[in-house]
Amino acid sequence: MAKKRKHRKDSSSSGSPEGQSPPSPDKSCLGLRKRQLSRFYEPLVLLYTLGSTRGEHTNSGLSIQDNVSLLSMRDVRRRFLTELAYMCDYDKGGGTVTSIGLESTPQKHVFWVASNKCPKRKIVPFLESLLVNINRISTATARHGPQEAEEVAAQCVSFATLRVKKYQILLRPLLRACLKWLAKAERDKDGLEEWLRCWELQGSHMALCRLAYESRKSDYMRTLARLSAEPLHKSSRDAMHNTFRLVRHYIGRLGHHFRAADVLLSCASKLPELFDTYEVRGISTPQGFAVPQVGGMTRLESIIVRMLPAKSPDLDRYQQALAEMDSKYHLSSRVRENYTKYTDAKSKPRVHAEIQVLEHFFSRSLSFPDADPFIACSKPACFCCLLYFRNHPGHFVEPASHRKIYLTWRPPDLNADNNSPSPEHLRDILNAMVKDIRKEALRQIDEKSGPHAWHADSLTGITKSTVYEQGLKTLEDPGETFVRAGEEVEDSKSLQSTPKARAFSDH
Ligand SMILES: [Zn+2]
Repeated sequence: MAKKRKHRKDSSSSGSPEGQSPPSPDKSCLGLRKRQLSRFYEPLVLLYTLGSTRGEHTNSGLSIQDNVSLLSMRDVRRRFLTELAYMCDYDKGGGTVTSIGLESTPQKHVFWVASNKCPKRKIVPFLESLLVNINRISTATARHGPQEAEEVAAQCVSFATLRVKKYQILLRPLLRACLKWLAKAERDKDGLEEWLRCWELQGSHMALCRLAYESRKSDYMRTLARLSAEPLHKSSRDAMHNTFRLVRHYIGRLGHHFRAADVLLSCASKLPELFDTYEVRGISTPQGFAVPQVGGMTRLESIIVRMLPAKSPDLDRYQQALAEMDSKYHLSSRVRENYTKYTDAKSKPRVHAEIQVLEHFFSRSLSFPDADPFIACSKPACFCCLLYFRNHPGHFVEPASHRKIYLTWRPPDLNADNNSPSPEHLRDILNAMVKDIRKEALRQIDEKSGPHAWHADSLTGITKSTVYEQGLKTLEDPGETFVRAGEEVEDSKSLQSTPKARAFSDH
């Protein structure tokens, strides 16, 4: 208990001796940073172990209206920036996730671009040429047709060759499994077999993506949706409906470049002022980060002490609940395992793209058009980014989120930049995040409840409203895990991805 009070006192006294942006942090500063991070990651690793997916997708910043002509000007601009960010994210797996903030100055607009890996070599030149193309088309024609959309799609599909290729590779064995099942079941489903076979026969990425786009509202996709439905009886993760669901999901993703090209052109014709004078600028990706080796992550009973206020009357109850969960589900060893993963030298924590853009705008007091503090991203935000936005004093628009925890998430190094806000800035945000993380973990421990169902980071994208209507937000996507596994510490050690986890969630 005494240790906890000392710990808290240290944290709350942070910041004041540091002054403005010291060029090289001294020992006490490093110690402070280490304690801050220790206080942050300890409950985060526990929460990750309790379940790395913290609920359903949320979509607060973007309208689900698909018809661009029915959107407000603010929503047209948000949709335009979001599809631009998607087009820039040329690979699958997290490294190329792209975020864009639009700055408005009296002289021009500036598209500020950040990516999980540096955007300056590939993404910035691509975005420049894409904007030139979009501007040329929307200036030349009042209303674009399929030919113009195809031209933009071709440029983007070519840039995203790596992504399309990975979807193609993931789709192949799934198609074969579906064909095998249909043959065995002797149920042709009105030509579904023949239609599934034609996905293997497409000669180019463009042909594949075009077919996916044209098929989005077909009867075959509706049949796939029916076959994807969860059976009434309990089923395993590799049951056939999941295979059909994945086929539908990947076809949706393959068609998205065409759909996004159409949306971009529709939006651009409503945003002529944006193209008067503009430039594209990359935000430098933060330097590598040495994960601090912090202690105290070994015993659940001491973690819970640090998560509660001093002399909390609830301590016994939480300790008992944790002990119960520990004996059944080996929580202690899983927490240790996940923590070891986090501190692994190969884990390479990153400042996610949307956080880079957020702090870039905040620290320089940059202005958004129509004072709409919206930051676009190619993918929904993770759980930590969502909490960072929510607890940031800049009141930026809360992003759509898939609410997953990545242990490779890290906060920005605000002191590394001369434009840094006050030293208390990051401390206050992290403290507020810790509060939310603790609350979420304590609630789950109190309920002794299992983890939320896992779902894909991205939505299928047939249409946003259709997905919402059909409640198909929980789509399995092993591809995301498969690709990311080499780059990030992934979900593999959270409870729900293990046999024990299934026991946990079935309990
Ligand atoms: Zn994130």
